[in-house]
Amino acid sequence: MFSVILLLLAAALLYFAYNLRQLARQKSLETGVTGSVLYSDADHTQPTETLSCDLPDAVGALVGKPDYILKQEGRLIPLEYKSGRAPQRLFPSHEHQVAAYFLLIESRYGAGAAPSHGVVRFSDGKEFRVENSAGLRQTVIDQARRMIDISRGAVEAHRDHHSRAKCAACEYFPVCGERIEGDGG
Ligand code: SF4
Repeated sequence: MFSVILLLLAAALLYFAYNLRQLARQKSLETGVTGSVLYSDADHTQPTETLSCDLPDAVGALVGKPDYILKQEGRLIPLEYKSGRAPQRLFPSHEHQVAAYFLLIESRYGAGAAPSHGVVRFSDGKEFRVENSAGLRQTVIDQARRMIDISRGAVEAHRDHHSRAKCAACEYFPVCGERIEGDGG
């Protein structure tokens, strides 16, 4: 009787694993991402590690989860998947998101695995390549330090736009004293 239960349990586990693989394959077909995937937060088939990287001068840390980390010719390449049609040009915020992944990947996997570039892929299949440069990484470090300073009240920050939509999508909306509400812009 006990061995029958074990057999049933093993069959259930195999079935579960098969379904997870099918789900991962389906998602990968959906996103069009192929190749050797080292890490995927986009498939949701298993918990993924949150990557972190200490900022210089111990001011804080960057944390994040790339959608994918691909292995290509010995290098690790972050790939960010965006639903929706590709814009004409990649937004700076997308570039900075990928650059943050450069820092996170180097911190987690070592300097030898530092990405040469990253990719932003849109659901219409269009991809943009983001080169890994010291200047871009420094921009992200400066932005992260500024966000930490603002959250600690060490510096003041003021709104630099008139977009109600931008405020509506902003994570600081509930607590921001300069948010635009209603029909205000
Ligand atoms: S809610 Fe505040 S922080 Fe967010 S975009 Fe609007 S003005 Fe900027």
